[in-house]
Amino acid sequence: MAEKVRTGRFVVAVDGPSGSGKSTVSRRLASALDARYLDTGAMYRAVTWAVLRSGADPQDSDAVAKIAGETELTIGTDPTAPHISANGTPVDAEIRGPQVTAAVSAVSAVPVVRQTLVALQREIIAGAERIVVEGRDIGTVVAPDADLKVYLTASADARARRRSAEYAADVTATAADLARRDRLDSTRAVDPLQQASDAVVLDTTAMGVDEVVARLRDLLEGRVTA
Ligand code: C5P
Repeated sequence: MAEKVRTGRFVVAVDGPSGSGKSTVSRRLASALDARYLDTGAMYRAVTWAVLRSGADPQDSDAVAKIAGETELTIGTDPTAPHISANGTPVDAEIRGPQVTAAVSAVSAVPVVRQTLVALQREIIAGAERIVVEGRDIGTVVAPDADLKVYLTASADARARRRSAEYAADVTATAADLARRDRLDSTRAVDPLQQASDAVVLDTTAMGVDEVVARLRDLLEGRVTA
């Protein structure tokens, strides 16, 4: 029997630290609900790619702000085929590389970068019927009125194992990188990673993806009227 797909308008906000399962869960949930999907981390990564490509220092916030203002991002919202371009150049592979990953937390801490990207994210959300949005500040800043806010966590070990498997990278180095980014993302002055007071917190350490997605569907069904 085909499952019934929810047809009402809704926004689901999925926040949490790196490796908590946000991307996999958000894409699967969006597909299951016939909704759009927005990866806001990809947007911060694409601006970081543009900064590095220009030769600017990612720690130089004036230079970073200028480049963010000049970079035109195009991001797809099909959960089965995410893609992103910066000034017309597809950067899907490049934004996952170690250079971008090392510099993205510095770039995303620059207030002008956040203002620019949050405005774009809100436009994309407003234009979608149904959308699952993942990031660090979605429930707190980007979409505080979201129909469902979820904060995904997992143990540091589990997060490092998942990320290192995904990128075929060394677990110890990955754990160190995640800890570094979590610290920078949680302590920055503007829009830090934090749990919204009304978010549902799910620790995914011992949960499979299907289980998490099913749980979120149940929560959404209970809250959204079609
Ligand atoms: O989700 P992902 O790991 O790709 O995000 C990359 C980086 O982008 C994060 O470490 C964080 O610095 C930044 N980010 C952010 N706000 C968001 C999404 C991502 O600051 N909403």
